Amino acid sequence: ADPVHVVGGGLAGSEAAWQIATRGVPVVLHEMRPQRTTDAHLTDGLAELVCSNSFRSDDPEGNAVGVLHAEMRQAGSLILAAADKNQVPAGGALAVDRDGFSRAVTQALEEHPLIEIRREELATLPPAEWDKVILATGPLTSPALAEAILSLTGETALAFFDAIAPIVHFDSIDMGKAWFQSRYDKPGPGGTGADYINCPLDEAQYHAFVDALIAGEKAPMRDFEAKTPYFDGCLPIEVMAERGRETLRFGPMKPVGLTNPHNPTVKAYAIVQLRQDNKLGTLYNMVGFQTKLRHGEQARVFRTIPGLENAEFARLGGLHRNTYLNSPRLLDGTLRLKADPRLRFSGQITGCEGYVESAAVGLMAGRFAAAERLGEALVPPPLTTAHGALLAHITGGHVEAEEAGAPRSFQPMNINFGLFPPLEEAPRAEPGKRLRGAEKTLAKKKAMAARALAHMAAWLDTPARAA
Ligand code: FAD
Repeated sequence: ADPVHVVGGGLAGSEAAWQIATRGVPVVLHEMRPQRTTDAHLTDGLAELVCSNSFRSDDPEGNAVGVLHAEMRQAGSLILAAADKNQVPAGGALAVDRDGFSRAVTQALEEHPLIEIRREELATLPPAEWDKVILATGPLTSPALAEAILSLTGETALAFFDAIAPIVHFDSIDMGKAWFQSRYDKPGPGGTGADYINCPLDEAQYHAFVDALIAGEKAPMRDFEAKTPYFDGCLPIEVMAERGRETLRFGPMKPVGLTNPHNPTVKAYAIVQLRQDNKLGTLYNMVGFQTKLRHGEQARVFRTIPGLENAEFARLGGLHRNTYLNSPRLLDGTLRLKADPRLRFSGQITGCEGYVESAAVGLMAGRFAAAERLGEALVPPPLTTAHGALLAHITGGHVEAEEAGAPRSFQPMNINFGLFPPLEEAPRAEPGKRLRGAEKTLAKKKAMAARALAHMAAWLDTPARAA
């Protein structure tokens, strides 16, 4: 068979190459290092970890990334096998010796008879004779290739910075204080006029909140990030707060066009709005709250907002250099560019976030590409698996704000239980007992995790069908 070309030998590209070759299909893996490097990579090893050495929680019952680990092990992942072999003690987390890990991945790929590694940069769109390509060049895709992708997708479809607002689990919002309403009850396209969740602040609460934002500890910018200026519409909330005490009240926290049904006679001094973030309606993002505050500070400061006292965050805010596509618009259900299906994307450039997620998207892209080359039909993993939930977030599970002039809202995200469909049946307690609070949450997570692993096993066992 002709080879599949994989561009980028990071977390996603390495896993994709492995999955393809394991299915008996030849691969050419193109990696630009050491010929050319990025602002964050330091070595010429494949699957280099550019920052932390942790793959996060390895708990396959109570944690969504632990479920992703377990599913990847089921699927014969090279990244997970190399991580398991190079594990260092880290409590319940899977942390690795980064050099040993990268060496193990590099060696396995170099020794595979169906994999050829070329150390070269792809500086243009892939040549026409490459009929199957996976682009996995990551958040720091080389500028020449980024330009070429931009020419293909258009300016609004490729971002170079992510300005992330925190995302809250709906069931942790106190709707006894918050309420559903769109400003002036205006329905957006497909909306009802009650599309936002609103949290009211009185004058004292607002000023205390502004003080806390300004005093809060910020995460440092990396050198190359500091050189990239903020662009309009993406100012961190604390930077806006520093511009003047009333700035937020005339910006993302303006209280106009909204009436608090819990207290209709008292006008709120400021209002925080949350917008539905996924089709399931389990997640809401805090509109305009992109921030460089440290994660611990965000949880503390944002829980002072009435209605969010017990908020559980699916993702906290951030601002990073990051090259990624507006995937829900551009990619089909198996990660192919709709406008040119010979090109498939994978890894962080598709809008997932993190080492493990990038590798998992690489795993799926590799399997899809190999099946295609073999003339087989491969349906995506079910939504109830961590892989399927992640893929759905990237390729269509996300709700875009459609208001005129709204910035695109698809932002990178880690895997979390909010991306999974709710359970068909609530978990049952032992006879005579009732599940409450944290116990109930844990029972739900365990049931979702068990469902995910069973459905992943079934997906992996499904025999390939002729396309
Ligand atoms: P990468 O692992 O970056 O791999 C992309 C590969 O493509 C690289 O090897 C690069 O050299 C190569 N390449 C780029 N352009 C070309 C080209 N034109 N031709 C050929 N090769 C090319 N995630 C975490 O989970 N934990 C963290 O602590 C963390 N810290 C991060 C810190 C920084 C500064 C950045 C930028 C990201 C961080 N991330 C972290 C996110 C992390 O980078 C990604 O999750 C993960 O590495 C992405 O995997 P990937 O395979 O998509 O990209």
